[in-house]
Amino acid sequence: LIELDRAHLVHPVASYRGHEAAGARVLASAKGAIVTDASGHHLVDGFAGLWCVNAGYGHESIVEAAARQMRQLPYATGYFSLASEPAIRLAAALAERAPGDLNHVYFTLGGSDAVDSTVRFIHYYWHARGQPQRDQFITLQQGYHGSSTVGAGLTALPAFHANFGVPLNWQHKIPSHYPYRNPVGSDPEAIIAASLAALQAKIAEVGGPERVAAFYAEPIQGSGGVLVPPDGWMKAMRERCRQYGILFVADEVITGFGRTGPLFACTDDDIVPDLMTVAKGLTSGYVPMGAVLMSDHVYGVIADGAGASAVGHGYTYSAHPVSAAVGLAVLDLYENGLLENGRRAGARLMAGLRALQDHPLVGEVRGRGLLAAIELVTDKEKKTPLPASAEPSRRIFDRAWANGLVIRAFPTGVLGYAPPLCCSEIEIDDIIERTARTLDQTLA
Ligand code: PMP
Repeated sequence: LIELDRAHLVHPVASYRGHEAAGARVLASAKGAIVTDASGHHLVDGFAGLWCVNAGYGHESIVEAAARQMRQLPYATGYFSLASEPAIRLAAALAERAPGDLNHVYFTLGGSDAVDSTVRFIHYYWHARGQPQRDQFITLQQGYHGSSTVGAGLTALPAFHANFGVPLNWQHKIPSHYPYRNPVGSDPEAIIAASLAALQAKIAEVGGPERVAAFYAEPIQGSGGVLVPPDGWMKAMRERCRQYGILFVADEVITGFGRTGPLFACTDDDIVPDLMTVAKGLTSGYVPMGAVLMSDHVYGVIADGAGASAVGHGYTYSAHPVSAAVGLAVLDLYENGLLENGRRAGARLMAGLRALQDHPLVGEVRGRGLLAAIELVTDKEKKTPLPASAEPSRRIFDRAWANGLVIRAFPTGVLGYAPPLCCSEIEIDDIIERTARTLDQTLA
């Protein structure tokens, strides 16, 4: 398998660099929060796959829902006014549970095309409102919004732009809140003021609010290194966008579906965005699916405007009945104990990781619920980052793996945690104990 993998299977490019020599780690099976590789090595999956298997592995009710739907109706397009029952029911269920009036759901195959779809919808929206000059998009540094061309354009991580010749000159980045390393310090008020000022300056730079279509933010920046904004940050940015008439998009691809506690992290932030993107936990990784949720107002303008001018947007596998059936089965699990267990597990994880704060390598422990990170430093006082290359983080990943723990080791020296919501107390304690062991080995 390792030889065939090397010869034929193309991995996500950046993450595989450095692993080629050792070869692929082939996963063979999984149950709950435990994954087993092809040689029989058991590990706690501290990253829920890629922050997605929120419900955990091996739920028969999910498998049954998928099999039943495949037998009954494996496919239905949304074109020609067609629909399937699970897609309708899942859309209604999400609308009922989402904050505010996010009542209109467009299903995609994952997060990147959900983000792409928001860009399309937002263009339609401003055209329908007679303001086509609102075509500039603002996002955050350290933000991640997908790997498609448009998603990568909105993404601020340099690796996703390297050698990328396509001109995406309509998206702009402002500095992230990043409390641990913010030039204005860690005071929440100062960070919020700095972000508002940066937004204002960027708006002016692109020609004023009447040029800006939308602002995008993750409630917690995931792929940028699990950066948690100060309390009130999302609300302040959301309100400022409202004042300028700029659409506010919350990208909840990682934070949605219990990752931080509630079904949607925007609930914690007490905001209702104009649009929201979700994926990952929506189907808990069992099958691909993402979605865009739109407010009554946004969808109303698009739907009215669409009648006037020919607009087209749709994927063959949008609102896939099998994915939707899985989404419904997963939602049922979340609401029958999983969210609750996730909240308990999250509190235990945060407490356990925070107890590692005094370790000589640990600069900061941060997170919310089951979304957490440790930022490693070589000098705690000076917050000196680990050397900027993938090498140390790959070695930490390898050590954790040998200790029976899957975590994400970012090249920036940040260890990322996103275990499944089904984790038991013992599994959470194992994650912490194996992390401590990995850190001690790294120090030695
Ligand atoms: N937005 C955010 C916030 C994400 O974290 C991701 C994936 N990590 C995406 C969009 C893209 O989702 P996908 O990989 O499913 O295309």
